[in-house]
Amino acid sequence: MLIRSRRNFLRDTVFLPALLSAQTPANPKFDLLIRGGRVIDPKRNFSSDADVGILNGKVAAIAPNLDAAAAKNVLDARGRIVTPGLVDIHVHVYDGVAPLGIPADPNCIAKGVTTVLDAGSSGAHTFPGLRNYVMRVVDTRVFALLNISVVGQSTLSNDNPYGELLDLRFVNTKLAIKTIEANRDVILGLKIRLTENITGPNDLRALDMAREAADAVALPLMVHIGGSHSPVPDILSRLKKGDVITHSFRGGPGGIIDERDRVIPDVKKAVERGVLLGFGPGAVSFSFRTAEKVFPQGYLPGTISSDVHQFNVNGPVFDLPTVLSKFLLLGLSIEEVLRRATANPAGAFKFPAGTGSLDVGSTADVAVFELREGNFEFTDAMREKRKGHRKLIPVASIKAGRVYGNAWLPVETARRRALNRGGGLSVTAI
Ligand SMILES: [Zn+2]
Repeated sequence: MLIRSRRNFLRDTVFLPALLSAQTPANPKFDLLIRGGRVIDPKRNFSSDADVGILNGKVAAIAPNLDAAAAKNVLDARGRIVTPGLVDIHVHVYDGVAPLGIPADPNCIAKGVTTVLDAGSSGAHTFPGLRNYVMRVVDTRVFALLNISVVGQSTLSNDNPYGELLDLRFVNTKLAIKTIEANRDVILGLKIRLTENITGPNDLRALDMAREAADAVALPLMVHIGGSHSPVPDILSRLKKGDVITHSFRGGPGGIIDERDRVIPDVKKAVERGVLLGFGPGAVSFSFRTAEKVFPQGYLPGTISSDVHQFNVNGPVFDLPTVLSKFLLLGLSIEEVLRRATANPAGAFKFPAGTGSLDVGSTADVAVFELREGNFEFTDAMREKRKGHRKLIPVASIKAGRVYGNAWLPVETARRRALNRGGGLSVTAI
């Protein structure tokens, strides 16, 4: 495993310091100039070679041939893609509390993902810990969807197969509402997981309670489907405009297609009334075959997220750029793929203005990737494989003008370092 990981590291790494140079201009105009990349800012339909100038943590200018001599630092992005810092609306970064949690920084900001939404790892009782010991500590910008169960996702593990909604006494609508009202700056909605081992026969009652809380705070509800106790149409009928179905493109029963591979009518109706089809592959929730059947019927995911967690971070998910590369092989363009990981997820929840865009004046959160050509094998959650010829390799993340490298760290090493260092895992900073 270690040898293989080292090989991956060598294959998938771009050495950032070689691309960064510092200088001392007489009249500095920029703290950082990202030079000569292909800038793709889907929100503005911008896809063109340009420089990005950053000053005081904000995007100051985007144009070809900005004055590089007037920059204190230059990042050479020639031949690379420069895009807004990715926004992943389904991750699990409550490391150490939710058994599926992983450390945020080596899996998010080190991979071009500057903003994430922790999808329900915490509930009302465990959210204060997420706020104090994750959000306040890590470099990745972490927001949360609150689990409708007070215990969040702290109960279910491989060794204890009992989910957070098996006992409805742990669902407390009032407490969820109170927690959200007190933390509206970072809680952007609610999350519920509706799988038989998590809910038992309680799924629809728990969903109704989550619905009540979401309506009371006027925020969206993200619903994890697949293998539910009740039929999918009964779940979909409770969803409203702005709610997000995650794991839409799972394989097997309980997904969005029938036995003849047609999108079920209830999904069509839900999409028509504004429910968003999100994509989060999880450990068991992405099938190439389902995607290949559903895309031609006109149903593409509006957002692409990773659902990266303890049980898929070492494959088949790895990270969001790898997930996006799978959509390249499914036929989407690089612009279409990046839109679903920047502008679209930023628009689906109430993130701070400017998230997921490179608008001049907005906070300078930027990702630099290499779109490497070659022969790559990708695996879905059903262990089916496909060959692809392009892979997004993270080169650098910039958060409010600060540069972070792409150093790859195994989960265990990253956790140890996070504990030793109080969580800061920034690799290179200027
Ligand atoms: Zn998840």
